[in-house]
Amino acid sequence: MIAVVPVRDGVAPNGAVAAIALAGGRAIMVGSGTRDAVAALEGVLVEASVLEMAELGPARLAATLSPRLIEVDLVVVPASPDGRDLAPRLAHILNRELITGVIRLRNDTATVARHDGRVVEHITIDGPAIITVVPGTVSAPTRPDDQVPVLTEIEPDSSPTSAAPDPDFVELMPADPATMDLAEARRIMGGGAGLGSAEHLRLLETVALALGASTGATRVVTDKGWMPLDRQIGTTGVAVDPDLYMAFGVSGAVQHISGLGTPDHIVAVNTDPSSPMMNMADLAIVADGPAVLAALASRLDLSTGTVEPQAVEPQAVEPQAVEPETVEPQAVKPDAVKLEEGGPAGE
Ligand SMILES: Cc1cc2nc3c(=O)[nH]c(=O)nc-3n(C[C@H](O)[C@H](O)[C@H](O)COP(=O)(O)OP(=O)(O)OC[C@H]3O[C@@H](n4cnc5c(N)ncnc54)[C@H](O)[C@@H]3O)c2cc1C
Repeated sequence: MIAVVPVRDGVAPNGAVAAIALAGGRAIMVGSGTRDAVAALEGVLVEASVLEMAELGPARLAATLSPRLIEVDLVVVPASPDGRDLAPRLAHILNRELITGVIRLRNDTATVARHDGRVVEHITIDGPAIITVVPGTVSAPTRPDDQVPVLTEIEPDSSPTSAAPDPDFVELMPADPATMDLAEARRIMGGGAGLGSAEHLRLLETVALALGASTGATRVVTDKGWMPLDRQIGTTGVAVDPDLYMAFGVSGAVQHISGLGTPDHIVAVNTDPSSPMMNMADLAIVADGPAVLAALASRLDLSTGTVEPQAVEPQAVEPQAVEPETVEPQAVKPDAVKLEEGGPAGE
């Protein structure tokens, strides 16, 4: 088994760690800046082959890689945009079954999530196959930090035969955090019932946008209609795997956490210091969520329209919490949190 990981400008996509972990640490890293991507994945990779290619045309990539994959039973590709482009082409050239959206692999049975995770299917793999793995669903075993992967270089094939034409590359547009697929988001601000009203969720969106973050929510929030269903994180929502997760008024129920992946950094704002979300956090701020958001909005000079955050009554806890004024909102500014794009613990 081997993972094939498309790399852009030294950054491996969301899902790279899950794919490599599933393949036992063996991967072909292909694209631009592959050595940087390998360095960022130390501790996850055991053995890596790197193939430097300036452009990631999926047809050319599939034609270049397929001769090296003929002998490999199972090829694992991250379900990132580039991975989803590549996998069906590999399956076609190698004449193999394609199994997409895998969240678990045990022996010869792949578990796949369908319909936004509402339906789970078990598929028996009875021959060579290409599979795509959902980001954040498989975590890497802990290896010593100083373990350096065995590295080999693959010479680029200047004219792979039988490459189907690729579309002309015009420009790579950055994703809009407000509308992008939550599964791809590197920074997420999550809102829970503790924010207390739809208005406060709009305030969360305003602050998130200014910080280049996407917004997510708990099921309580989507059930109330304060956020759309495609923003729900968890077992019956989207599986995410950001570098940074900032949770406001989120208790951290297991059904929420199980869709969270393994963020490098978690910041939690909650009036209950003993909530599971606060226990998971690198930075736990005991304070009123809307008040912290308002303080952030003010520091960022954001117009919040008519939103005047009302303190929300803490639920089932004594208001022993630190007064909102004592909160130092700069602690959650993005530049105060060191982001390690594509780092070993990033997925
Ligand atoms: C089959 C099933 C599937 C589910 N799937 C999902 C899923 O996919 N995703 C999901 O999220 N949930 C899911 N749930 C629901 C899950 O069990 C929890 O009920 C839900 O995650 C809790 O959401 P919450 O944290 O917003 O609300 P609560 O549990 O009510 O927590 C609110 C939190 O806000 C804090 N708080 C209160 N006031 C304030 C304030 N003023 N400022 C700051 N903090 C404050 C409280 O201390 C508390 O920690 C599922 C449940 C079931 C049974």
